[in-house]
Amino acid sequence: MLQSADSVERLITELTRLPGIGRKSAARLAFHILKLTKQEANDLAEAIRVVKEKVGFCSVCCNISETDPCRVCTDPKRRSDVLCVVEEVSDAAAMDKAEGFNGRFHILGGRLSPLNGIGPDDLNIQQLLTRLKPEVTEIILATNPNVEGEATATYLARLLKPLGVKVTRIARGLPVGSDLEYADAVTLTRALEGRQEY
Ligand SMILES: [Zn+2]
Repeated sequence: MLQSADSVERLITELTRLPGIGRKSAARLAFHILKLTKQEANDLAEAIRVVKEKVGFCSVCCNISETDPCRVCTDPKRRSDVLCVVEEVSDAAAMDKAEGFNGRFHILGGRLSPLNGIGPDDLNIQQLLTRLKPEVTEIILATNPNVEGEATATYLARLLKPLGVKVTRIARGLPVGSDLEYADAVTLTRALEGRQEY
C-alpha cells in the first residue's frame, strides 16, 4: 500500500511541473489517471514518449515540427517575403487562423523580461536576422500587447529597421465584444491610434 501511495505521489509531483498546474490540480489529474483503463493510461504515456522522440524544432522558423525545415517554411503557396514574428508556437497557430495572412512565421521562444533574466540572447533573434536576406521585405511584429511584449517589439523594431526591412506592428485596440466604458486608457489610446478610414 505504501508503495502505491509513493507512485501516486510521484505522478502528482511530475504533473506539478506542467504550466498552470498547482498541487491541487495535479492531484485531481492523478486520480483521474488512476481511474483510466490500463490501455488508456498506456496510450497517454505513449503519446508523451512519441512526441518527445519525433518532434523537434524547425531550424528556420524555430517552430515545433516533425520535419526540418517545417511544412510552413517549405510551403510554396505561402509568401516567403513576409514574416510574422510571434512569442510562442501557440501564437503562430492562433495567427494562422486569422484570414489575411499568408506569409511565414518566426517563433521567438518567449519575450524580453529583464526581471526574469530573459535577454535578447535567450530568444531566437539571431535566427531571425539570418532570414532577412535576400527575400524578406516585411516583418510583422505580433508579440503580445502587454508590457513585455511591447518592449520586445520595440527592441526588434530598433534592431531591424536600420537593416532596410519594413517593420510593422499588429494593430492594438479593443477586443470584439468589449465595452468602451470598461477599457483602460492605454487600450483606448491604442484603439484611436489604430483607427482606419471607412
Ligand atoms: Zn519552419
